[in-house]
Amino acid sequence: MSLLSVRGARRVFQTPEGGRLAALDGVDLQVGAEEFVTLLGPSGCGKTTLLRAISGFEALDEGTIHLQGADLLRLAPYRRPVNTVFQSYALFGHMSVARNVGYALEVRGMGRAARQARVDEALEKVGLSGLGARAIGQLSGGQRQRVALARAIVAEPRLLLLDEPLSALDRNLRQQMQLELKALQARLGIAFVFVTHDQEEALTMSDRVVVMRKGRIEQIGPPREIYRKPRTRFVAEFIGETNLFDLDAQGRTPEGLIFAVPNPPAARFTACLRPSDFHLAEQGIAGVVTKVVYLGADLHLYVQPKVGGPELRVTARDHAAAPVVGAEVHLGHDPEALHLLEA
Ligand code: ADP
Ligand code: MG
Repeated sequence: MSLLSVRGARRVFQTPEGGRLAALDGVDLQVGAEEFVTLLGPSGCGKTTLLRAISGFEALDEGTIHLQGADLLRLAPYRRPVNTVFQSYALFGHMSVARNVGYALEVRGMGRAARQARVDEALEKVGLSGLGARAIGQLSGGQRQRVALARAIVAEPRLLLLDEPLSALDRNLRQQMQLELKALQARLGIAFVFVTHDQEEALTMSDRVVVMRKGRIEQIGPPREIYRKPRTRFVAEFIGETNLFDLDAQGRTPEGLIFAVPNPPAARFTACLRPSDFHLAEQGIAGVVTKVVYLGADLHLYVQPKVGGPELRVTARDHAAAPVVGAEVHLGHDPEALHLLEA
C-alpha cells in the first residue's frame, strides 16, 4: 500500500480578472513509503498548490488525501505527520541554529534535554554537527539550506515536502545538495515529494517524476521512462532537447525525410528522437551544419536537412574531426530510439 494517496484533487481559484482557474484539475498521485517523487512542471502548473493541500495550508474543493490510510483532510496542519521545506527557508534570523531546529519541539512542550538530543541528531544528519550555537546570519547559503532541512526532519515526519528548496543556490552547490538530499532521503527511509521546474534536477534525484501541466498530471514514471518514452509532445519538449517529426504511415515527413518506424500506425503521427540518437554516418539524412554549440565533451550540432524542414539537433563528440559550420554531413539513427507520441 502506498504511504500517500491523493485522489481527484481539485482546487479552483478566482483570477484577478474575475474568471476561474483550476490550479488542480483532477490530480491522482500515490507515493510509496520510501519513495523520492518529484513534481516537475512550468511555473503556475499547480505544484505548490498540491504541496500546500498535502501539508494543510490549502483546502481542496474536491478530492481526498490519505496518509497511511488516515484521512489527512480531517487533520489540522500541525497534526499531520508531514513537514515542508520552503525555497525561502523561512528561518528565524534572531535565533540560533539549534533553537531554529528545535523550535517545533519547544512549542510542543518537549523538555530541554530531550530536545537537545533530537536537535543534535538532526544537525548531524544534515552535516552541521557542532554548529548549533551559531547565529543564522553567520551561515552560508548552503548551511542555511541544511538548517531548514534539519528543522523539517527533527519531528521525524513520514513525509517531507520540499518546494523548490535549491533554486536560490548557485549551480555547483545546487548539484552537491541534490546528491546530499537524495542520500539523506535514503538514510532517513521516509518519502520525499520534491518540487522543481528544472528538468535536469528532477531526472537526477527522483525515483519517479510527475510531470504537471495546467493543474493536471501529464505523465508519471521513472526518469528514464520520462526521458526515453515521453507520452505527449509537452513532455517530450519539456524534458531535455528533442527533435519532433510529423510522420505519415510510411515514416515520411511532409518534406520527404524518411525514418525507419518499427510499428507505424495507420494515420499520421508524431515521433521524437533525442539529439544523442542521431549519429554522423556515411549515408542517411543529408544536411548542412548551421550551428555548433560547444558543451565540453559533447558538441551540439544544428543540421539543416537538404530536403528542407526544421533543423535537426544532433549530439556529436568533440574531437579533431568534428564537423564545423558549413560542413555537409549525413545522419543515421537507431530505429529503436524513434519514439511515437500519443498526443
Ligand atoms: P506552481 O507552484 O506550479 O508555480 P501554483 O500552485 O503556485 O503553481 O499556482 C497554480 C495557479 O494557481 C497559478 O495560476 C497561480 O496564480 C494560482 N494560485 C495559486 N494560489 C492562489 C491563490 N491563493 N489565489 C489565487 N490564485 C492562486
Ligand atoms: Mg510554486
